[in-house]
Amino acid sequence: MFRSWRIGRIFGVPTELHWSFLLVPAAILGYSYEAGFGLRWSQVQWWSGITLLLFLFVLVHELGHALTARSRGVKAEKIILFPLGGGALIPEEPQRIRDEVLIYFAGPLANILLALLALPLLLLQPGGAYLIQFYLNPFGNLIVVPSPLEQILGITLAVNAVLALGNLLPAYPLDGGRILRAVLKRPIGERAATVITTLLGIVIGGGLVALSVSLGDPVLGLSSLFIISFSALELNRGWQRRRLARTVMKEVLRSPLSDRIYATDRVARARAVFAKTDAKVLPVYSNWNELSGFVEREVLLREAHRDQRVQPFYEAEFIAARPTDSLLLLTERIVEANVYGAAIYEGGTVVGFVFTEDVIQHLDRSPRRFYKRFTSPT
Ligand SMILES: [Zn+2]
Repeated sequence: MFRSWRIGRIFGVPTELHWSFLLVPAAILGYSYEAGFGLRWSQVQWWSGITLLLFLFVLVHELGHALTARSRGVKAEKIILFPLGGGALIPEEPQRIRDEVLIYFAGPLANILLALLALPLLLLQPGGAYLIQFYLNPFGNLIVVPSPLEQILGITLAVNAVLALGNLLPAYPLDGGRILRAVLKRPIGERAATVITTLLGIVIGGGLVALSVSLGDPVLGLSSLFIISFSALELNRGWQRRRLARTVMKEVLRSPLSDRIYATDRVARARAVFAKTDAKVLPVYSNWNELSGFVEREVLLREAHRDQRVQPFYEAEFIAARPTDSLLLLTERIVEANVYGAAIYEGGTVVGFVFTEDVIQHLDRSPRRFYKRFTSPT
């Protein structure tokens, strides 16, 4: 149930609806229910119409991102639509900063264009200037009774103005925050740019929470909490990378054991070697004493029989690195290649091993969160 449904390709971009859309009918009925009167059908129609319009505005925003990405040669994997927003999944960071700025600006720009389309049409209506004041300042004391067409135009103007300005706030993960990060990358470096924009996300998000409380607006409140949590996650990921960048490889390096596991060994003997160490993964050697790969303790315990050979249970792929390599870059290579770890060579001989397990332990992270942070596109 907790998934997204493909609704088709729009301009060639796969588009999905998030499962939380199932909550929309319930929300519409809830908003249309009035104590003492029961369900008001005019209200059901009203809120359904608003939902449909909002859905279209968000879709146009995300298409702005996705189509601009594609036009700059950057892959846009898909668009996911939520009841109150959406996201264009762009797995790889654009190479050029100019492209990154254009891609993130294109979403709000699409909303600005929609608002600019509605503005003259609304102005052409009788009493158009009053209508514009009414829709752009919902807290004013104007009283107007708009026609259905004027309502659609007015909502198009107001909602798109809010979507454009709101998304351009310089707070990660909003478009404005991403644009600011892209612009700051070159002068102050990617890490500092991330720290600044995520801190702005937490501060601005906090301000928006306070605003939502004073306005009594649960939708704004929820969106602000999303901004804060996304920023906090990204900030934390930044600290994790910083710690790895500053860690000397020696701190997580495991020296080779004198007792070696050979591919031709029986599983029982390999288990005995594991029993003497706390390692979860150990190297496997060929009969010519060359490193062949890595084997996991759990695999030998659960999947192998004691009389079998180690041969079918070890993974032959690993990464070769030098003791002077950066632990951050090495960890990224290990995660990218999806292997147990790296063999560290110095002058042609193996001086030790770096295993993901040990890096995780060093960072004090649970493996699930670790992999998510290191692999999720941001
Ligand atoms: Zn956007």
